[in-house]
Amino acid sequence: MKHYDVIIIGAGSIGIPSALYLAEKKLNVLVLDGEHGPGQQNNKKAIGGIRATHSDFGKISVCLRSIEILKNWQQERGDDIGWMSNGYSYPAYTQADAETLKALLQIQHSFGLNIKWLSPEEYNEIVPGVNMDGLLGSTYSPEDGSCSPLLSASSLYFHALQAGAEFHFQEQVTGFSTKGDKIVEVQTNRDSYSCGQVINAAGNHARDIGLLVGLDIPVFPDNHEAGITEPVARFFGPMVIDMRKEPGSANFYFYQNNEGQVVFCITPDPPILGIDNRSTSAFLPLCSKRMIKVYPRLRNLKVRRTWRGQYPMTSDGFPIVGQSKEIENLVQAVGMCGQGFMLGPGMGELLSRICTGELTEDDHRVLKSFDPYRDFSGEEKFK
Ligand SMILES: Cc1cc2nc3c(=O)[nH]c(=O)nc-3n(C[C@H](O)[C@H](O)[C@H](O)COP(=O)(O)OP(=O)(O)OC[C@H]3O[C@@H](n4cnc5c(N)ncnc54)[C@H](O)[C@@H]3O)c2cc1C
Repeated sequence: MKHYDVIIIGAGSIGIPSALYLAEKKLNVLVLDGEHGPGQQNNKKAIGGIRATHSDFGKISVCLRSIEILKNWQQERGDDIGWMSNGYSYPAYTQADAETLKALLQIQHSFGLNIKWLSPEEYNEIVPGVNMDGLLGSTYSPEDGSCSPLLSASSLYFHALQAGAEFHFQEQVTGFSTKGDKIVEVQTNRDSYSCGQVINAAGNHARDIGLLVGLDIPVFPDNHEAGITEPVARFFGPMVIDMRKEPGSANFYFYQNNEGQVVFCITPDPPILGIDNRSTSAFLPLCSKRMIKVYPRLRNLKVRRTWRGQYPMTSDGFPIVGQSKEIENLVQAVGMCGQGFMLGPGMGELLSRICTGELTEDDHRVLKSFDPYRDFSGEEKFK
């Protein structure tokens, strides 16, 4: 039976960068995925937003590192992944939202983030023609950005291959053999492999993988729909996130990508649990109505395509990352919620340090936020 130092379950937003950084540390890595290629589940459903403007140290630190990696990717690794430092903005149309955002600014400043409060007039300069009626101002974090989930997954994958990681596609993990409190063998629909460590990066299926060794990991996917327009000349800068709830939806967000296409996404309210990738006819009228109200200049854009995917959610909005206590060589890297794409590269590096025992003091602090054994009573404000 072939032996690997680390077997990663899932070649998605988390599994691919983890494979790269582990292989670059000269570990013998195998990635198993049931799909036909890399990034075929939720990674390719993401719209490409990458921000460090969260509300706690863990997500902020990991995403700051992701931004650093992705911003310099083309220069350091040679591949264009469509990176743009276009920034994020949260316009406030209600007093309550303005107060929440301003309170969070203090926390974000205390972590050294470059984020400011813009007046409605200043916001109109970066989102020209935005609806000023009732606009109280907006946050703006110019160093946040975006890139293509398709291009970046593909580039990360080829670099992981070059570094020596092995990927097996259309190979589903179906079980484990354990000895005492260790996994000694990973079983698939095709073969079995002996392993040093195992990383659960199975996204939507995190819980199924846990149940194979008797662990109940509280990750419950919910459905989100997105769309993309035709490309047009650049007419606004940052990601725009409207936090308001309206009947049928919570927040929605959109930006213009590096090819000039407007990409957009909405969070259904109440949440639609489960894994159902069929697009609905309700999504587009609901989302476009809300978008045009905030930004009337979008009204003549033609939508090219819509799609549906999931956020692998936890109840408090924080990921579940860390060594399992029950199974000593199993590492959880799941529950990425709506931020797995932006967490991916930074998380991949962190996971490589978990596996090699090279965790720093900051890493330990980050991992506290993601502790698999926390009581889940908190709430990440931007979940
Ligand atoms: C519409 C939409 C927009 C989004 N926009 C953004 C955004 O702008 N920015 C952002 O950061 N995030 C965004 N997200 C969220 C992001 O897509 C997810 O958080 C992220 O992809 C999760 O990463 P993951 O690696 O956990 O899961 P995935 O990328 O889904 O990877 C998990 C992999 O595990 C494999 N797998 C599962 N079970 C098994 C098994 N038994 N055997 C073998 N393989 C298995 C799957 O095939 C899959 O490839 C968005 C999501 C949606 C739906």
